[in-house]
Amino acid sequence: MRTQVAIIGAGPAGLLLGHLLRAEGIEVVVVERATPDYVLGRIRAGVLERTATMLMERIGLAERMHREGLPHDGFALADGDRLIRIPVTELTGHHVLVYGQTELTRDLMDAAPERGLQVIYQAADVALHDIDSDAPYITYIREGREERIDATFICGCDGFHGPSRKAIPAGVGAVYEKVYPFGWLGILADVPPCHHELIYANHDRGFALASMRSETRSR
Ligand SMILES: Cc1cc2nc3c(=O)[nH]c(=O)nc-3n(C[C@H](O)[C@H](O)[C@H](O)COP(=O)(O)OP(=O)(O)OC[C@H]3O[C@@H](n4cnc5c(N)ncnc54)[C@H](O)[C@@H]3O)c2cc1C
Repeated sequence: MRTQVAIIGAGPAGLLLGHLLRAEGIEVVVVERATPDYVLGRIRAGVLERTATMLMERIGLAERMHREGLPHDGFALADGDRLIRIPVTELTGHHVLVYGQTELTRDLMDAAPERGLQVIYQAADVALHDIDSDAPYITYIREGREERIDATFICGCDGFHGPSRKAIPAGVGAVYEKVYPFGWLGILADVPPCHHELIYANHDRGFALASMRSETRSR
């Protein structure tokens, strides 16, 4: 198969990029390791900042997001007994939106066929080849057969642990990172949120966040 852009990873970045390119008439194929159900069952983000909502508006997929998402005009910082409110809308002119990453991914996924965005799920052993040449390509295994996609560009949207990052030759590109010595424990519960906005709390033993996904689901 030949395409203009091959994207590895059908998370929000890969699908959104695919839609943005399709809107410009560019041929795109997205290759994803997991099944659609697995991708939709992967609970992650819940708070969308302005850039993300603007991009969804730009590709005309923001209707459900604005109908079902919860606009937040601020959040609170808790420090001991003090609750300090940060009025985001007042300060920036824009609210943030609480809308689950899974819902955003579903909107991008559902619109893919009608917009000619081809997504190949359950592609195993995805590998990038000749990426420093004018004729890069990717290979993968699907239903026991090796497949190949030749592309003008390959975009790695497969996260930190995917094959794209590892394929970048040593000496090309630079990594900037700050590693914090913390781990996360996230609990998603079917109970109404304890507060109408998010609370970020400072504590001697670390940090806590009271967040939400909807009027009935807390994180
Ligand atoms: C618990 C949690 C809470 C978060 N909360 C927020 C929040 O409130 N707001 C916010 O903005 N962000 C939040 N984030 C961060 C947000 O989830 C990520 O920034 C986002 O998922 C990144 O999207 P992505 O498409 O780049 O990568 P991913 O969502 O990781 O998608 C990468 C895709 O590549 C696929 N892939 C991986 N390896 C391969 C391979 N070998 N071959 C083919 N495909 C492959 C994966 O299956 C996946 O579908 C949170 C993250 C976590 C973990």
